[in-house]
Formats: sequence, structure tokens, C-alpha cells
Amino acid sequence: MGPPGAGKGTQAERLIETYGISQISTGDMFRAAVKEQTPLGLEAQKYMDNGQLVPDAVTVGIVKERLAKEDCKKGFILDGFPRTTSQAVSLDAILRDLHITLNGVVNIVVSDDALIERTTGRQICRTCGATYHLSFKPTKKQGVCDKCGGELYQRDDDKMETVKKRLSVYAAQTKPLIDYYKNSNLYIEINGERDMEAVFNDIVERLGKSK
Ligand SMILES: [Zn+2]
Repeated sequence: MGPPGAGKGTQAERLIETYGISQISTGDMFRAAVKEQTPLGLEAQKYMDNGQLVPDAVTVGIVKERLAKEDCKKGFILDGFPRTTSQAVSLDAILRDLHITLNGVVNIVVSDDALIERTTGRQICRTCGATYHLSFKPTKKQGVCDKCGGELYQRDDDKMETVKKRLSVYAAQTKPLIDYYKNSNLYIEINGERDMEAVFNDIVERLGKSK
């Protein structure tokens, strides 16, 4: 878990490489179930075709099918699931049924101020698409691309008001879920306001201890 911009994707990639495990993302799982035309996949497709949210019962069924597959025997990382406390309760039931125990629930914590700096400082070249950052990867000349001399701009998604709104929605939605895991012995809180390597080493060490 972690707010948008906390570096979850990067850390998940490193963990997958290091441990040779699978990343289970809800998006990929839905796409696979639809492609394989499993009964649950067809059910999920009905909702997605109508632009509706897939109900929990269907999502949970798809997660269970996925976790029962051979490549999960070595381990896996869940990404984008559970998102709510009721999904977390369902996940616990799935894991019990499949005789799987989790090593931990990693929450990468980054303050709003740091996330705002990370996100709102992003700049993209209009001409060649190169990416920069005002604080972490500045261009030689402000507002001008180092590679092609093109003009830099900020994506609407990275504007202050949008970022603040996204962060407050995330905080409100995940607070109950974080509380749920804080009450279990699985919860691992990681300080995400450090460089990628330090965060990664910390996650590996803490996961190792929790075995
Ligand atoms: Zn450029």
C-alpha cells in the first residue's frame, strides 16, 4: 500500500526480480479472466462493458482463481487489491481456503508535502516527451528541454489542486484498510521519503524478519 507517487510500482518491480515471484494486479487479472473466458471473467466483462464497477463477489472470485495457480506457489505480490476493508476480509478467507499465509502488508508512507513536491515538480517536453523534475532532475535552462530545446509543460494530473485532491481521496479511502492491517501482525510501515535503494533494502529486511 501507499499513496500515488510513493514509489509502489518501482519497489514491486524490484521485489519481483529479487524473489522471482509474480505480481498480481487486479487490472491484469481481469484482463486474463476475460481473455480466457472463465465464468467469472465473463461476469466481470458484463459490468466493465457497461462502464460499471465489478462487484466485490466477482473480484474476489477472480483473485481466488488467480492465487490458486501454479506460479503463485513461490509467492506473489498483490497490487491494487484489497482496496477496502470488506475486500481485505474476503482476502483473509481466500488465503485460509488456499492455505496461504502472507509475509506482510507493506505500507510505504510519504508525507503529503513530499508527494506534492515529487509530483508537481514534474515537467515534460512538448516536442520529444523527455521528462524532468524541478528539484530532482532540473534542466540546464529553466523551461527548456536539454535534449531538443523544446518547451516544457506540466500535465494536468500533476497540478497542485489535482494532486491534493487525489491524496485526500486516497487517505479517506484507505484509512480503514490501514487500520485493519495495523490490528493484525502483518503490518509493516516503511518510510518512503528516502532514495529507492534505502526503501527497498528496508522492505526486504522487514519482510525477512516477518517469516
Ligand atoms: Zn525535448
